[in-house]
Formats: sequence, structure tokens, C-alpha cells
Amino acid sequence: MGRLLQLLLLVALALIVWRLVRKALAPPRDGEPPRFEPTGRCAVCGTHVPRGELDAAGHCPRCRGAKGPS
Ligand SMILES: [Zn+2]
Repeated sequence: MGRLLQLLLLVALALIVWRLVRKALAPPRDGEPPRFEPTGRCAVCGTHVPRGELDAAGHCPRCRGAKGPS
């Protein structure tokens, strides 16, 4: 009976190790968003913001209305 328990524990341990190894080696999934968003530099104040927040002229949301940092 003791040997059966040992065998079961060994199989469970092997399964856990196998899953960990597979998870570590798996490539990142396509559905996940990128970990780092590309940033751009504001043409007025020089602040780095996500590219999506810059307008066509390269102004950050803070500088869009104003002439510059005040
Ligand atoms: Zn700015």
C-alpha cells in the first residue's frame, strides 16, 4: 500500500513539473495585449506619452489646447 502511495505522489509531482515546464516554454498568446505600449515625445513639452494619446501634430493631451506648458 505504501508503494502505491509513493507511485501516486511521484506521478502527481511529475505532472506538476511537466505543467510548469510547458508554461515556461509556451510562447506568448496572440490575444494578449502587448506588455509595453510604444510611446512618443510631445512636440511641445517633451513628455513621453503613449503614441495613441498624441495627436497628428505630436501634441500630448495637456498641450493640445494650450500653447505650451504653463
Ligand atoms: Zn505636451
